[in-house]
Amino acid sequence: MTLHLPADILDEIAAHATSTYPEECCGFLIGSESGGYRVSAVLRAKNVAPAPRTSRYTIDPLAIVGAEKRAASEGMMVIGYYHSHPDHPSVPSEFDRSHAWPSYSYLILRVMRGVPAGFRSWRLEQEGRRFLQEVVEVG
Ligand SMILES: [Zn+2]
Repeated sequence: MTLHLPADILDEIAAHATSTYPEECCGFLIGSESGGYRVSAVLRAKNVAPAPRTSRYTIDPLAIVGAEKRAASEGMMVIGYYHSHPDHPSVPSEFDRSHAWPSYSYLILRVMRGVPAGFRSWRLEQEGRRFLQEVVEVG
């Protein structure tokens, strides 16, 4: 299924990724599942992975619960996560794969020398063994 992503929300993710460079940023994709996945907001999260946070991210489970509650209170849900890859391609790492769940989108934004350099979004197969790239429609 296609992920629909408004351009201004992509800009917000890029701004977050730029501000945390050279560390990874992370956050939630909030939205709905009507006729494809539709992102309507993002929520920043704190990367609580041990330093250096240049090649992985961890979100506090309590922050995940908080984001889910906040989304639900607005009639939406957490449909995925975003994070940045400072100076690395927008391809999930083995750490990303082993910490991911099926049925969420995982958007990865590449940041090269502090400048946003494209993104890709991924979904885990139901068996959870590998990520498949998903189609994203920006606009
Ligand atoms: Zn990653």
